[in-house]
Amino acid sequence: MSKFQSAESYSNDKYKLLPIRFSEAYDNKYIVTNMVGEYEILDFDIINRLVNNDVIHDKNLLGRLYSKHFIYDGTDHTALKLLGLKYRSKISRLKEFTSLHMVVVSLRCDYTCSYCQVSRQGLKADFDKYDMSIKTADKVIDLIFSSPSKGIKVEFQGGESLLNFKIIKYITEICHLRGIQENRNVQFVIATNLSMLDDEIINFIKKYNIYVSTSLDGPRSLHDRNRPKPENDGYDLTIKGIKNIQENVSLSQVTALMTTTGRSLDYGIEIVDEYIKNDLSAIFLRPLSPYGFAITKKQINQYDTDRWLEFFKNTLDYIININKNGYNLMEQYSSLILTKILSPKDLGYVDLQSPSGAMIGGIIYDYDGSVYASDEARMQAAMGNFKFKLGHVDENSYEEMIGGEFILDAIDKSMSVSVPSCTSCAFLPYCGSDPVYHFATQNNVVGNKQISGYCKKNMGVFKHLINLLENSDEETKRILQSWVRY
Ligand code: SF4
Repeated sequence: MSKFQSAESYSNDKYKLLPIRFSEAYDNKYIVTNMVGEYEILDFDIINRLVNNDVIHDKNLLGRLYSKHFIYDGTDHTALKLLGLKYRSKISRLKEFTSLHMVVVSLRCDYTCSYCQVSRQGLKADFDKYDMSIKTADKVIDLIFSSPSKGIKVEFQGGESLLNFKIIKYITEICHLRGIQENRNVQFVIATNLSMLDDEIINFIKKYNIYVSTSLDGPRSLHDRNRPKPENDGYDLTIKGIKNIQENVSLSQVTALMTTTGRSLDYGIEIVDEYIKNDLSAIFLRPLSPYGFAITKKQINQYDTDRWLEFFKNTLDYIININKNGYNLMEQYSSLILTKILSPKDLGYVDLQSPSGAMIGGIIYDYDGSVYASDEARMQAAMGNFKFKLGHVDENSYEEMIGGEFILDAIDKSMSVSVPSCTSCAFLPYCGSDPVYHFATQNNVVGNKQISGYCKKNMGVFKHLINLLENSDEETKRILQSWVRY
């Protein structure tokens, strides 16, 4: 009896390739992904065989390549249909269209952060001029409910949003009622520095189950330097506000995120410890964005993408160790990406969408009734560039703003599958396109990915997470898997 199977069983035309991409992941190992982001780590020799339809001797690997729909037998189209089904599930959010509606209720702010991305106005600015009016709010509400989405998230932003709590209250009460009448699931988020929090607001948050998103940049010295407030009480008020919500509403009702300035880079451990000290269960390690005061006050020049990636990796290592020691702390950017890598779901994070999440995933209504494709587009407008302005609540209907040539053109240009570099990048299923970022940095909505900070940052994070998933100890893998939100 022969030790080997017949020559025919190794026949070259045993399988046909389905769409795959491959890129170097780490140490001469290559990641191969399919259209929906399922992946394998392979040696180049195996990839060579695969793309040349050569014999794959490793039966286990061959089985995995079939089951992940990297290859099929060329005759039975069930594999193609299954892959199509998975792809439809992955992009199902597109049919919902705009579900995130960001409402800037005031441009005024009591802080003077030099990295401010929206070029806020000071407290003394005329509130008639910089706060949203009831007339504008009514039109915003009508536009929100013109969206076909069954799930609607209304996020109040500023400046400091609570400076115009009257309008937050007004919009929330009406949207809540209309949600019930129209059978839509409406959720609310208030983005705030918490300095204005009082009992009335706490009761309101409780009544409407409103989530609160705040900024905590680290321990007192770092937070107050990054986010200066003339009275020098920013850190104290933020911590007091977090505790107030945790004790009087619930622990999970408040989340915080940090912005990495040049002075944050050496304090990853202290920043994480501050989150633990305040019983927070998630942290979002965010770099500066190239908009608003971050540009005009030259904050953006304080570090490059390599330095931020070093900060990200070291801080993530520390967060994983904290989890190993029994405290559950999730890094949110990793969580968004791990969910894309390890599950059939995409959480719809606006910056990691193709076509672009701006407009499709989220839309922003400014205090004066101007409507923008994204928060970043509003920031661009504050710098005098109105390219991404969709219209105005007084002048344009939902259909005019959402169904116009501008949107169709932007969707066309932000399809990563047809963008140079992205089209052949194995990380494409996890990535996105950010036309506003690329316009801000390269004056071009598509952007040359060879010199793109967006590309470099994301590719660095993807490679690091894949490396951890493949090469770390079992406990680290379990922790990363526990961050998948599916
Ligand atoms: S932006 Fe960069 S990492 Fe993302 S898909 Fe394009 S080439 Fe790949």
